[in-house]
Amino acid sequence: GTFIHSHGTKVFVPDRIDSVQDAVNQARFSEKRWVWIEDEANGYVRAQIIKDSEKSPRSPRYGKIEVQYESGHTCLVSSDKVYPMNPPKFDRVADMAELTHLNEPSVIHNLTLRYHAGEIYATVNPYRKLPIYSQEYIQSYRGRRRGELPPHIYAVADQAYHDMVHGGGDQSILITGESGAGKTENTKIVIQYLAAVANTAVRSEIEQQILQANPILEAFGNAQTIRNNNSSRFGKFIRIKFNNRSQICGANIEWYLLEKSRVHQQTRQERNYHVFYQLLSADESFKEDLLLGGKNARDYNFTKKSSITIEGVDDGEDFRNLIVNHYPLYLYSENKSLDIMGLSEKEKFNLFRIVAAVLHLGDINVTPNFRDRADIRDFKSIERVCHLLGIPAQEFKKSLLSPRIKAGREWVNQDRSAEQVQASLVALAKTLYERNFGSLVERINKGLDGQKSMEEHQFIGVLDIAGFEIFDVNSFEQLCINYTNEKLQQFFNHSMFELEQEEYKNEQIEWSYIDFGLDLQPTINLIEKANPVGILSCLEEECIIPQGSDKGLLQKLNKEWGNNDKSEGKYQKNRFDDGFVVVHYAGKVEYSTQGWIEKNKDPLNEDVTRLLARSTQPYIGKLFEEYLHDNEPTSSPIVGDHNNVIEFSKLRKGTGSFRTVGQRHKQQLLALMNTLESTHPRFIRCILPNSRKRGGEIQNKLVLNQLRCNGVLEGIRICRKGFPNRLSFDDFRKRYEILCPDQLPADRFIYGRKACEILLDTMELDPERYRIGLTKVFFKATVLAELEEIRERHV
Ligand code: ADP
Ligand code: MG
Repeated sequence: GTFIHSHGTKVFVPDRIDSVQDAVNQARFSEKRWVWIEDEANGYVRAQIIKDSEKSPRSPRYGKIEVQYESGHTCLVSSDKVYPMNPPKFDRVADMAELTHLNEPSVIHNLTLRYHAGEIYATVNPYRKLPIYSQEYIQSYRGRRRGELPPHIYAVADQAYHDMVHGGGDQSILITGESGAGKTENTKIVIQYLAAVANTAVRSEIEQQILQANPILEAFGNAQTIRNNNSSRFGKFIRIKFNNRSQICGANIEWYLLEKSRVHQQTRQERNYHVFYQLLSADESFKEDLLLGGKNARDYNFTKKSSITIEGVDDGEDFRNLIVNHYPLYLYSENKSLDIMGLSEKEKFNLFRIVAAVLHLGDINVTPNFRDRADIRDFKSIERVCHLLGIPAQEFKKSLLSPRIKAGREWVNQDRSAEQVQASLVALAKTLYERNFGSLVERINKGLDGQKSMEEHQFIGVLDIAGFEIFDVNSFEQLCINYTNEKLQQFFNHSMFELEQEEYKNEQIEWSYIDFGLDLQPTINLIEKANPVGILSCLEEECIIPQGSDKGLLQKLNKEWGNNDKSEGKYQKNRFDDGFVVVHYAGKVEYSTQGWIEKNKDPLNEDVTRLLARSTQPYIGKLFEEYLHDNEPTSSPIVGDHNNVIEFSKLRKGTGSFRTVGQRHKQQLLALMNTLESTHPRFIRCILPNSRKRGGEIQNKLVLNQLRCNGVLEGIRICRKGFPNRLSFDDFRKRYEILCPDQLPADRFIYGRKACEILLDTMELDPERYRIGLTKVFFKATVLAELEEIRERHV
């Protein structure tokens, strides 16, 4: 995991020419004019300029620069594909904003060099253990100011804590990046750091609990994927609460978008959620109570089709760490996660009861009967599920095969096809798993809150959420994620430049305020606006009307947004005519609207949910309690695409779990944004170095793409609009006086500002390229690089 400081804006005044080699490199560099050339295959390659472009538009060489590659090969390239290169003394600078030539190739080049030097902060996921998270490190970053020590996640955490303690109010740390980039690891590191510094005495119980919440959440919410052996399949916002003595007094976790589909399908090299394999590697006695005796992951439909074990992971051991041993008290060796959280035996058993029920649901075999009706011949498989869920087996079977629905004014039983029953079993399994997860988080929150949260005074929130996704096929899930990231990026653009402009104001330089967050507003409107109906609202409407379909949704969207003016060009039809394109800040994304109605509504067989609401197991009953007084279904059936009657799940608003997926997410996201806006934010961008889960390797194009998606390049774009480099009057004079010898009076007491004015005048610098403030001079990007070059020639 790696991050890049987002708004370092000091100038780089290095004494890096500290060795002979550096001096030699510098000399070599100065002889030639090195540049980066955009290249399809490799991102960027080095070259040097042989001849500049002609100034006259009539010349065949107008806008073309002649360059020579390192191979010796020369050619003419269009000048917009040529980027200036930073001199070698800028190599490995910790703060990207210090690069005087702030362009894509320079950032990647710098990240690569730092990565290979093990300087991952302001760099990239090491995929190996680095000796930089020890107690000594924690101590050394404690209470230090940013910039005093090299960038480190501890520095960010420490600043947040420091600012909160010293009247800076609530803080937040936003960690984004693609899967496998190191978000969750860095989240844990932040929390560990806070737990270590926020308390002077022995670790309190609450801190133990906060740290232990992770393995529990990971068992139920993480899985092995191609990208990451321990990939979180949900987003989270952890709020660490502090009392008025700045001690941790509680915590709270909010979760977003759990990937439900993983419960029933995974690709071959991936796994289902860890807890399935952990439970199946548990002691036989434990498994027997859940009717899993003598079985393992190779025996169940939901686990057997993909990989079973992860290299270096012992699921049995993890399970033992998750729950308490069943051994007598005197044999206890160490604390177990669920115990530290204060879960009772009963509560723990209920969690696994659902996991087991889900496994058994996957093994119910539905076959077509005569006339294409569904049948379930193995009644035992039904009984297993019903035993665990505390519902009558005969009724369950009947509800599955022939649920009661309303036809006109009458209630009738309607026979289902095998596919329909199969689909309702899968939907039930997914819902059970998700509700169990939600209930687990709620329970953890209860534990983390204690009675002490009454003392809550301030908080530091840490957001660990999936970054921008652009796949070959993008669906509703990607729209939700990308919408989230669009909002977060808007927040970033807004707050990053807010600080910057604050400084312009303090320094009283000439500048008119710009809100860079507004650049992203048209795309956000397109997705979230209610009037004109944005994508989410349109989907909502289509889910309510009886004849709603994916096609209908697309037609409405095309009608509403197809006109370029209205969407400001952010909405387009897609190539296959099965969806649309949204122009996000990170690029164009083609969405296919296939299956969206289904995905958003998540229809359940309501006959079954009514049964579950009346379960003899109170835990199950509670998970479905909103169906309890739902004796008479009130909704009408709707006719789906293939003339199959799909039972229509009511979209009752305001009752928590009853909302549609899109509705729930939008509401949660708005709440999150409100919270974040009330805090002082910090941003950490994690970067995945390669797609092989390996150390020591950087894939250029992969990194470039992430820089585009995670907003680093967007940040650079904004930076360049302002005056990203600055120097105090004194520093400026000391360093550049040499360029204008004899201009300043010999006595050194001349007023700082005056001295700068004289120097800048003498240099004949375009006044648009700098501003003189009250204590500093500000420069546009590249100005200092040019001054540095001239200075090189003088010294
Ligand atoms: P994400 O949450 O972004 O998907 P993770 O935080 O789970 O990614 O990181 C993926 C894997 O990368 C981890 O399991 C770990 O092996 C490795 N990793 C990430 N950050 C670090 C780090 N700072 N030091 C060592 N290994 C790391
Ligand atoms: Mg993660």
